[in-house]
Parts: sequence; structure tokens; C-alpha cells
Amino acid sequence: MLTKFISDKDAEAFLRLIDENENIVMTCHVRPDGDALGSTLGFYHLLMRMGKNAKVVIPDKAPKSLAFVPGAKELVAYSQYKEFAETLIQNADLIICCDFNKASRLDQLADIILNASCKKVLVDHHLDPDNFTDLTFSFDKMSSASELTFRLIAAMGLLEMMDKDCATAICTGIVTDTRNLSVNCEYSDLYIIMYELIKKGVDKRRIVKEALETKTYNSVKLCAYAMSEKLTIFEQHQGAVIVLDKSELDRFNYEKGDSEGLVNQALEIKGITYSFFLREDPDCIKVSARSVNNFPVNQICEDLFNGGGHIQAAGGEFYGTLEECQKILINAMPNYDKYLTHKHK
Ligand code: 5GP
Ligand code: MN
Repeated sequence: MLTKFISDKDAEAFLRLIDENENIVMTCHVRPDGDALGSTLGFYHLLMRMGKNAKVVIPDKAPKSLAFVPGAKELVAYSQYKEFAETLIQNADLIICCDFNKASRLDQLADIILNASCKKVLVDHHLDPDNFTDLTFSFDKMSSASELTFRLIAAMGLLEMMDKDCATAICTGIVTDTRNLSVNCEYSDLYIIMYELIKKGVDKRRIVKEALETKTYNSVKLCAYAMSEKLTIFEQHQGAVIVLDKSELDRFNYEKGDSEGLVNQALEIKGITYSFFLREDPDCIKVSARSVNNFPVNQICEDLFNGGGHIQAAGGEFYGTLEECQKILINAMPNYDKYLTHKHK
């Protein structure tokens, strides 16, 4: 019923790798989001059900807002448990890399994963993946790595093994990367997948509530402050930029995940085609970008901020001061006017 993206040969090769190996590690990009956890934990539940010794090892801790995803307690964050994480990776017979296209997105885990001698599989939906795995599943038209996880499970003939926890993890990834089926999901296949997930017992309302509609009081105040005091509109470029420095984050007791959704809020402003959010993190300036009308924010993030992503949702990291980062972005805005296809009046 689903359009076929995965060849029989590749599905068989993946199934063989799973069948032949016991210790299987899933990993994902730094600062994990719903899709990173959805895809890794989706495989985790499937493999546990198949009797494998499955582990999810991630570069850094997941935000509290995703603690509801089944299996979140079992995540091993390298930033917290270095030795344990390294041992798990060294003992792995197979590593499944989810939701990223370049090893550098593994941050401090990059060398450890690259140096692991076992076979590796990539499950991703970003453009132009690096060639660092033995088997690569990469489809940039897909909504999420979690959608691809579902398709792979189906293509391997393992849908029967998918339990409610597995389906809930996968649904979380789809719901978060599509913002509750509002972006990047204009094709019928995705709704067939949602139908199958709901048949497995997934409580979609709860996922939406937990992942997208629940914020701490501090987070609501931080976002309100940012929108009211720290947003600049560049009307002629149809761009919006929000900037938060360390002292402001401290003032609102910022915790990981507290600024989630902020960059989308700026995109709601009439006449705005793209929005950027620059946040002064301890190690770098974290850049987040969103757009509408096919304005390529991934291009800007790649050109200016060592980053990338999708055409309408991208990000990067800048090593320098917040002021420099802001200046570079603002000075570059005219270069991207050519991509503005819609006149706003
Ligand atoms: P967010 O703004 O939610 O952090 O990230 C949105 C999307 O942008 C992610 O799903 C990912 O595809 C991409 N992205 C975010 N940060 C980075 C980064 O530092 N490097 C690259 N290459 N992509 C990023
Ligand atoms: Mn994703």
C-alpha cells in the first residue's frame, strides 16, 4: 500500500545484519529532538522484542520534554556516562545511525563511532549524507527519520513485531518533525503510516500534548520575553531574528528544550518568510532557522554557520560572539533575497 522506496535487496541486507548480530547500538545527533529519539527508540523496542541486546547511546542528554517517550530512561548519554557509552559502542556488533547525515553531528561521539570496527547502517532524511556507513538508507523527501524507521520495519516484514512502545516512539518522531502533521507531510503515505501506528494503540493526543504543548512556566516566560523584547523584523528581506544571550537565559533559569518552538513563533508573523533564533550556549552560538515558501534556510546555515538541515527547518553552530553571529546573518540577508518568491503586502 505504501509507495516503495526501499529495494528488496537493501531490506534483506538490513534484516541479515540484524539477524546475524546480537549487540546492537542506535545513535543520533547531538541535542536530540523528537525524531532523533523516535527513530533510535523505535529500533530499540523492535530489537528488544526480537530478543537482541539493544542500546541507545546518544551524544548528550535528551530534553525533559521528551522523557515521556517509552524507553527514554534507558538512553545512555555520552556526556554523562563516558566510559559506559564507550564500552557499549566498542562491544557493539552493529550500529544504527539515525537522523543525521554527517558524522560531525555526533559531536564528541563522532570519533568513537567512526572508529568502531563493526558494521554501520544509516537511517536518515537529510540531503547529501556522508559515506560513513556500510548500508545507507537516506531519503530527503521523507518527513522524518522515524517515518523511515517505520518503512524499514515494514520492508523487512517485521510489522508484527512492532509493539505499542515502538509505535509511540515512531509517532513522536513524525509528530515533532512535522509539527503535528502541519509541515513536510503533504503526501498520503504518511497518513497510512499514522493509521498503522494508531492501530498499534498509540495515543497521539498525549504525544502532541507532551512533546509540543507542554512548557515549564520559565520557558513560557522566556519565550514571551524573547518575542516581546528580542525580536527584530527585517521587512524588506521578510526575515525575523531573535537573539538571546547567556545572561537572559540565566535570568529565566534556562534548561535544555526551554526555547523549543520559539523560532516557529516568529514565523507566524504576517509577511515573514524566514526566522532565525541565535542562542548563546556555553560552547557555541546555537543557530535555529525556519521558513515557508521553500526559502532555503539550510543553505544559509550551511554558508554561514557550519550547519545544514532541511529547506524549511535548519540549524548550525557559530564559534564567536553573539554580536558577530548576528552581524554576519544580517549582513548576508540581501544575498538571499533572490529566493523570496512571495510578495507580502
Ligand atoms: P532545530 O532548529 O530544531 O535545532 O533543528 C532543526 C533541523 O535543523 C534539525 O532537524 C537538523 O536537520 C538541522 N540542524 C540543527 N542544528 C544543526 C547543526 O548544528 N548542523 C546541521 N548540519 N544541521 C542542524
Ligand atoms: Mn529529523
